[in-house]
Amino acid sequence: MTDYKNLIDGEMVDNGEWLDVLNPANEQVVGRVPACGKDELDRAVAAARRAFKDWRKTSQEERQKVVHGIAAAIKDNADELFRLLTTEQGKPHAQAQQEIYGAAGLAAAQSTLTLDDVVNQDDDQRFSRTRRVPVGVVGGIVPWNFPVMMAIQKIVPALVAGCTIVLKPSPFTPLTTLRIAELIKDVVPAGTVNIITGEDHLGPMITEHPDIDKITFTGSTATGKKIMEGASGDLKRITLELGGNDASIVLPDADVEKVAEQLFWSSFSNAGQVCIAAKRVYIHKDIYDDLSKAIAEYAKSVVVGDGSQQGTGVGPIQNKKQYDRVLELIQDAKDNGYKFLTGGDKDPSGTGYYVPITILDNPPEDARIVAEEQFGPVMPLLKFDSIDEVIERANNSEYGLAGAVWTKDTDKGVEIAEQLETGTVWINEFMHLSPFSPFGGHKQSGFGAEYGVDGLKEFTYPQVITVKRDAVV
Ligand code: NAD
Repeated sequence: MTDYKNLIDGEMVDNGEWLDVLNPANEQVVGRVPACGKDELDRAVAAARRAFKDWRKTSQEERQKVVHGIAAAIKDNADELFRLLTTEQGKPHAQAQQEIYGAAGLAAAQSTLTLDDVVNQDDDQRFSRTRRVPVGVVGGIVPWNFPVMMAIQKIVPALVAGCTIVLKPSPFTPLTTLRIAELIKDVVPAGTVNIITGEDHLGPMITEHPDIDKITFTGSTATGKKIMEGASGDLKRITLELGGNDASIVLPDADVEKVAEQLFWSSFSNAGQVCIAAKRVYIHKDIYDDLSKAIAEYAKSVVVGDGSQQGTGVGPIQNKKQYDRVLELIQDAKDNGYKFLTGGDKDPSGTGYYVPITILDNPPEDARIVAEEQFGPVMPLLKFDSIDEVIERANNSEYGLAGAVWTKDTDKGVEIAEQLETGTVWINEFMHLSPFSPFGGHKQSGFGAEYGVDGLKEFTYPQVITVKRDAVV
């Protein structure tokens, strides 16, 4: 077992109090991280504030160089990092590898984003331009499903925009992020990036800290609402990436054999613990029987187990709380007599938070497993009749994160996409995010956006400077 330290003001430090981190595959302690409180937070914020004075004046090239250093540190140590990520998060090695390389790629790509001045007026009377200025010290709060990717997607745009940051990983998955902190300690100027760990109660301290100017948060909608409330005291800027109950819509012209495997992984990747996983799969009645059979058949070939073992496709649920919630949803489906195509029958006791691959056959629309975000390896397949009906059902949610349409007729797919109330819609794929396109939720799935120029702007204020040309002074 290793102790992992925090990064504050360019130093790896601890406070002598520790939190255990478990491997969800066997419930063994795999590392310890500092249990921080107000004192450590104050020190980290003060360091970020001091560093902001110089960092805000750096050029795009200087910032780019630092961010490339972060990307290189991750890439050069990818082997060690992805194994550690599997150990604390549970995801299979191949998916952990994707996250680590994806985070390095995202950092490199986002370092190229620029916020150029915009000329508003240029005539005899005035020259007016809008420039973007960094908001200041950012508080970043991250969940446990993609701990590295989420940390990088907060740290990098903050730095590129000229801000400094204090980041708090989830207490369930802080290890890989702290190992990265150690690797980048001498790459980032002291105080620009601070990473501190603690239990959930550290979150509200960040949200309400008077010397933090902006919160960027990824996590549940319930916590997002608390953050909005906490940040309102001094009107901090906020970006919230929250939950989703994303619908996939499969039209009757889709090739059953070809889409079955893709649909499976759109729901079961990372054991379903993905904000943009397909959490409701609507299949047209003409192909429902064939496609549900093909998906269930494919599911039989996928191994659920320890992510560090070769051949594992679906790892454990990341933590006990989420494990209990998923089991509760499965039990609810059983109690209501819904039909299972796979899963629902295994005794979940034993070591490790494993849930069998569970596919439900056309449960009612008001079933909890359809109406709520399951965030686990459970996929409800739902039968639909007409396009208008399925659009209404897909939109009947407080969430509005993402969705997908599967069809050979891509024009039709786009026509449907335009009627879905979500921030992202894919035609014939799922979960693809580009560093250059804004990603954000409609309705209760979020506030603002990450990624792309829109995401970068959220770390800045617009400032308009106007020169009066015909003035007499
Ligand atoms: P969570 O909201 O419980 O926790 C997220 C983070 O917030 C953790 O670091 C936690 O310590 C901290 N936190 C907890 N209470 C807090 C408070 N009162 N104030 C401030 N911070 C607090 O979420 P989770 O269970 O870690 O993650 C799962 C949820 O995240 C799911 O709903 C999922 O859909 C969502 N998610 C969304 C996206 C997205 O981009 N939209 C991505 C990943 C996950």
